Amino acid sequence: MTPEEFRKYGHAMVDWIADYRTRLESLPVMAKTEPGEIRALLPASPPEQPESFDSILKDVDDVILPGLSLWQHPRFFGYFPANSSLASVLGDLLSAGFGVLGLAWQSSPALTEIEEVAIDWLRQMVGLSPAWSGVIQDTASTSTLVALLSARERTTNYGLVRGGLQAEDRPLVIYVSAHSHSSVDKAALLAGFGRDNIRVVEHDSDYAMNPAALEREIQKDLAAGRVPCAVVSTTGTTTTTAIDPVRAIGEVAARHGLWLHVDAAMAGSAMILPECRDLWDGIETADSIVLNPHKWLGTTFDCSVYLVRDPQHLIRVMSTNPSYLQTAADGQVKNFRDWGLPLGRRFRALKLWFLIREQGVVGLQRRLRRDIANAQWLAAQVALVLGWKVLAAVPLQTVCLRYEPQSLTGESLDQFTRAWVERLNRSGFAYLTPAILDGRWMVRVSIGAEATERHHVEQLWTAMQAEVSSAEF
Ligand SMILES: *Cc1c(COP(=O)(O)O)cnc(C)c1O
Repeated sequence: MTPEEFRKYGHAMVDWIADYRTRLESLPVMAKTEPGEIRALLPASPPEQPESFDSILKDVDDVILPGLSLWQHPRFFGYFPANSSLASVLGDLLSAGFGVLGLAWQSSPALTEIEEVAIDWLRQMVGLSPAWSGVIQDTASTSTLVALLSARERTTNYGLVRGGLQAEDRPLVIYVSAHSHSSVDKAALLAGFGRDNIRVVEHDSDYAMNPAALEREIQKDLAAGRVPCAVVSTTGTTTTTAIDPVRAIGEVAARHGLWLHVDAAMAGSAMILPECRDLWDGIETADSIVLNPHKWLGTTFDCSVYLVRDPQHLIRVMSTNPSYLQTAADGQVKNFRDWGLPLGRRFRALKLWFLIREQGVVGLQRRLRRDIANAQWLAAQVALVLGWKVLAAVPLQTVCLRYEPQSLTGESLDQFTRAWVERLNRSGFAYLTPAILDGRWMVRVSIGAEATERHHVEQLWTAMQAEVSSAEF
């Protein structure tokens, strides 16, 4: 494709995206695709001869769009908000257009320095002290893996340059809660700790980790000759947005020399609101934090910010320094390849930097406050109507609820719940994700798509009530 052709089709593509965002509300939220249906519409082998770009664009409409569940839809209430703000989309486009790689600072200085600036802006926006510095990773899963690798190496005093974990004479233990994200388990397993050394600490009735129970588990492990290594505290759990008490967990961690990693992947964005910062009170006692601007904040996926207090330790664990990557500037600059797993880095910071500039802190704050108010409104409505229950506190934008007809309990209630959610999802009107809480299915309403206004939440509430009352039981 020549630059002139790019100009033509690029304009067409941008128009397509703008039209798509404008008409989103008229499209079904959930794809009604059957498994294999999309593949069956496309040739099994690649085209021998070049195709016209028009025919490619035609497939975007005919084949791809009907096969998507629409996360940017105003009635998308599933999983978590993964906002792809249009300013951020342009940042991503520009990154691809530049086509530069950050292998070292020198390989594209602006790539590194804009990342430093954007992360430091974000640090200030969420109220963290200047003691923190950070890097953009792809996902929270990677950030948490890096955190647990760093914890492992701190506890073993850089065992990786000797026999590694295999040479340790006592097992290292990681502490999580039953409401920690599955990526924490995965990171602990991949970092070599082993299933037997992942301790699931009790949580309280509000689904937050109990610090006294953490202390007890640590004592048991010490008595058994094991080595407590790290604890992962979640600010905003996936099922209910429960808030583990960071300060109390941090005190236990400090007492025993544990690495404290705070997983604020979703809820971290809320810390741009000063009134929310109590939720992670004690955050300065952590060793590392992950927060995903690619969720609620609006940076198009993928952009996960990993923050640490001691970058020298991170670099010591992660750095490799082959001769072909060394440059004269190395002593004065950040080489982000030494802050995580991949060597090559694209210009991810652009989409975050564009977003912050185009919205301003005030614009981002206004949107998040709107979403929190919408969640409060929905929770209040639900609590007023007989048969409906709000099942967990609503500190942010997720409301966990269930309709409980008197005649139904146990598994028949589960079937009823899953059936009405499935019907609502299949209708294409709205999208919800059910989940299990305390052993029973319930419905998570995750509010916060950029396009979601109060009237969309009102429409959802009406639709949910209609759905349960049309059901036979
Ligand atoms: C979304 C989420 C994750 C996983 O995020 P990825 O970036 O997709 O790996 C981890 N922890 C919490 C609390 C989350 O909300």
